[in-house]
Amino acid sequence: QAKAKGRGAYQLFEPEMEEQARSRHALDHDLRGALEANEFHLVFQPQVRLDTTELTGFEALLRWKHPTRGLVSPAEFIPIAEENGLIVPIGEWVLRTACSSAASWPDMTIAVNLSPVQFRSRGLVAMVTSALAEAGLPPQRLELEVTETALLDDSEATIEILHQLRGLGVRVSLDDFGVGYSSLSYLRKFPFDRIKIDRSFVGTLGESPESVAIVRTIASLGSVLGVETTAEGVETIEQLDFVRECGCTTVQGYYFGRPCPAAEVGRTIETLNAVRRVA
Ligand code: C2E
Ligand code: MG
Ligand code: MG
Ligand code: MG
Repeated sequence: QAKAKGRGAYQLFEPEMEEQARSRHALDHDLRGALEANEFHLVFQPQVRLDTTELTGFEALLRWKHPTRGLVSPAEFIPIAEENGLIVPIGEWVLRTACSSAASWPDMTIAVNLSPVQFRSRGLVAMVTSALAEAGLPPQRLELEVTETALLDDSEATIEILHQLRGLGVRVSLDDFGVGYSSLSYLRKFPFDRIKIDRSFVGTLGESPESVAIVRTIASLGSVLGVETTAEGVETIEQLDFVRECGCTTVQGYYFGRPCPAAEVGRTIETLNAVRRVA
């Protein structure tokens, strides 16, 4: 009986997995022409300082508008682009586009995500140097976000590249902090400028005492180490008050703004500055 049930469950599961594999295969195929077909664009999400409620900059987030499927989530297509290697040219497009957009804004930072695969490709440091020069963006205004998966394999080589990037004058932050299994050890290997607390902790502050303790602990860790801490995914005033009380230095989340297209960045800056005058 158990066996029969097990088989049934297996058969039920199989078509779903097949469908997933088919979809992945199709996306893999379609990604190959996407850059040339101009199907990518960036959106920008504001980052706000907690002590002064000052807008400090934006994070650039990649969007893919598929010709028939519409918007595909980066959570879905970035792993595929990492697997087929396309993240290298796509990531270069992201960096160059983000830097040139940011060059026309007031003096604020632009944060750009780097994939671990980009670290393994040759010439990352030269590419960053050239993107900055071409955009005329001062290196101090660029912040590169890496996750611990970038540091996992071949961490010596990666740390060396991080030092070279830092040598250019750019800032480096550790993204999605707390979700990996060895986040803490990386704080000893490289002097990150910022720790970004994963939004899965911030999003569950209301129901999880563990999340409360974890956010509190990461914020204190940041303050002891003299590293800035950004709480990601702040959506409510309760979350905002809590992370401020913990000592986080900046926030990024729907509470202050959803990611917006480049054309709306000017308006977002005005709105946030107006809110700040009132607050
Ligand atoms: P991430 O770098 O941790 O980016 C933050 C994600 O949290 C973004 O999702 C953002 O839209 C979302 N978010 C921000 N505030 C809130 C909030 O208050 N509530 C909720 N529910 N979500 C919020 P997005 O844009 O879907 O990106 C997902 C992930 O995809 C990013 O996580 C990053 O790991 C990756 N990604 C995005 N753009 C790029 C890129 O250009 N290059 C690479 N390598 N990865 C990218
Ligand atoms: Mg990020
Ligand atoms: Mg993150
Ligand atoms: Mg993430």
